[in-house]
Amino acid sequence: MVVGVLALQGDFEAHAGMLTRLGAEPRIVRTPADLEGLDALVLPGGESTTMTLGIEREQLAEPLRDLIAGGTPTLATCAGLIMLDREHLGVLDLTARRNAFGRQIKSFEADLDLDGVTGGPFRGVFIRAPWVEERGADVEVLAEVDGHPVAVRQGDVTAVAFHPELTGDARLHRWLVEAVEDKRAKEPA
Ligand code: GLN
Repeated sequence: MVVGVLALQGDFEAHAGMLTRLGAEPRIVRTPADLEGLDALVLPGGESTTMTLGIEREQLAEPLRDLIAGGTPTLATCAGLIMLDREHLGVLDLTARRNAFGRQIKSFEADLDLDGVTGGPFRGVFIRAPWVEERGADVEVLAEVDGHPVAVRQGDVTAVAFHPELTGDARLHRWLVEAVEDKRAKEPA
C-alpha cells in the first residue's frame, strides 16, 4: 500500500514515519508524477499560504483535486484541512477559519472524543489551528472544541485541525490504512 505525503512544506516526515510503522509505504509527493498509483494521501500541517504557493508552482491543484475527489482515502491535518476548503482546492464543502483560536492562545492541547475512533480520547495538539467555520450537509463533524468543529469527515476524506503525527497516537493513520483495505475488499475480484 503506497500512501502519498504532500511534502512541499511542513511536518511531512513525522507522518511518513507513522505510516511506515503501520506497514504502509509512504511516498513523498512534490510533483504531479508523484501522485500516480497512490492508494491514499496525507496532507500535513504547516503554513497554508506557503503550501498554496507550492501547489501553484508545481501545478498540483488539478491532479490533487482529481485524486481526492476520485475517492482516494485522504487524511488532512491543520494547514492540510485549510487546503481542502472551498477557498483552496474546494474538495470539502466547508470554509476553514485560519488561526481561529486567536493570537493569544497560539497552541494548546485537548483530549477529544473523536467519533468513530475507539480506545479512549484522542489527544489533539493544536498549533495556530483552524476550525471549521461553515459547512454543508455532507460534512460530518467528528469532534468539536468550544462548539467549533475541529475534526470532520466527508466521504473518504478525514480532516482535523490538530496534529496527530506529534503524539505518536496512530489511530487516525490506521483509519486511513483500513479505509484502503476496506476498499480493496469491496472491489470485484
Ligand atoms: N495557521 C496555519 C495556517 O494558516 C496552520 C497551522 C498548522 O498547520 N499547524 O497555515
